[in-house]
Amino acid sequence: MALIVHKYGGTSMGSTERIRNVALRVAKWHRAGHRMVVVPSAMSGETNRLLGLAKELQPSSMTPESLRELDALAATGEQVSVGLLALALQAQGLQAVSYAGWQVAIETDSAYSKARIMRIDDARVRADLDAGKVVIITGFQGIDGTGNVTTLGRGGSDTSAVAVAAALKADECLIYTDVDGVYTTDPRIVPEARRLATVSFEEMLEMASMGSKVLQIRSVEFAGKYRVPLRVLSSFTPWDIPIDEESRSGTLITFEEDEKMEQAVVSGIAFNRDEAKVSVIGVPDKPGIAYQILGPVADANIDVDVIIQNVSHDGRTDFSFTVNRNDYARTLELLRTRVVPTLGANEVLGDTRICKVSIVGIGMRSHVGVASKMFRTLSEEGINIQMISTSEIKTSVVIDEKYMELAVRALHRAFDLDQPVA
Ligand code: ADP
Ligand code: ASP
Ligand code: MG
Repeated sequence: MALIVHKYGGTSMGSTERIRNVALRVAKWHRAGHRMVVVPSAMSGETNRLLGLAKELQPSSMTPESLRELDALAATGEQVSVGLLALALQAQGLQAVSYAGWQVAIETDSAYSKARIMRIDDARVRADLDAGKVVIITGFQGIDGTGNVTTLGRGGSDTSAVAVAAALKADECLIYTDVDGVYTTDPRIVPEARRLATVSFEEMLEMASMGSKVLQIRSVEFAGKYRVPLRVLSSFTPWDIPIDEESRSGTLITFEEDEKMEQAVVSGIAFNRDEAKVSVIGVPDKPGIAYQILGPVADANIDVDVIIQNVSHDGRTDFSFTVNRNDYARTLELLRTRVVPTLGANEVLGDTRICKVSIVGIGMRSHVGVASKMFRTLSEEGINIQMISTSEIKTSVVIDEKYMELAVRALHRAFDLDQPVA
């Protein structure tokens, strides 16, 4: 008898019909003798709908006070889901109980809309499991030290599920979604993409952080830190497929580098359209400029991604970096009002029509020439590279957003990702 956490995403919870299907699947696992905890997302489109309503009433940028309200609002989507799923399970004759994040409690910091889970009190959940109940916990939300509802960032239900699995020392965390696993790239963009039977934790971490939204990055971080066995699989298989078959389906995130991994130099391609580029032009080139530009940005809690500083001409240089598009307007404003005058720079330029495309693979560690093959492939397609950033197991480029699909497809082909593994 194992303790299993199931997570169901928005599409998997998208209608009462789908929720009934989830209940039938969970009931099957429960009847097979497993202790079941289920973490659902809001029904598909619901979080967007709620945030859209908020925008109608407060279109300008959010104050800290309004961010609090936004989180309280966005968290309601998941509360609907847990209630409906508990009812659906009860209709199957099971004992089921639902909890919002604060009821568990899932304690977070106070960074509204991107809160981090600090601690989970598992006492109540354990007592319910001991009493034979299926426990259903809202994804995406928690409560901060002063009792405010917080949310964990878009896609955050993955993180809730893995964190709950870690707290309960679950035997496995199964992430049910609308694709049947992790693919070499988003199958919506490249239909030839292949499902990976396994993907190493490190690769998954890079893929997620470079934009593969199949798992939220923090869920992968949690899985790594607490060694949570994690699998991504489809909720669209017939609910009554045998459990041993279901347990082998999808993609397993592995923590050991096995020999099979040696074969693929590049395992996957990720892309991200959520960033924007800002450039400070004509900065006097002297020690400390990176700090003087990025210090105030960091103080404003804005994450910076790719950074590039040009060679200087006549004692002046240009300094560019990317930020999330949500932080773009704030970053421009900050640079124009606080950084340019003190630095004596010429101006600040911005571009939101960029995207970042990354190749990821632990095989890159032991192979040379991988990045140059990427650059050659892009040049053959006539795609100009604006910025480059590398790590041991990934190379990312920033390019014009209109070339994103072309770049992803060309790279997918160039690295033979559409070919079956030998
Ligand atoms: P859920 O609502 O279940 O959390 P998401 O939409 O957050 O689902 O994540 C699943 C989606 O992630 C897929 O429908 C797919 O389009 C996208 N995706 C992006 N990159 C990948 C990838 N490498 N493998 C599989 N799916 C991916
Ligand atoms: N409902 C939230 C979102 O849409 C969380 C999630 O789906 O994981 O981002
Ligand atoms: Mg998701």
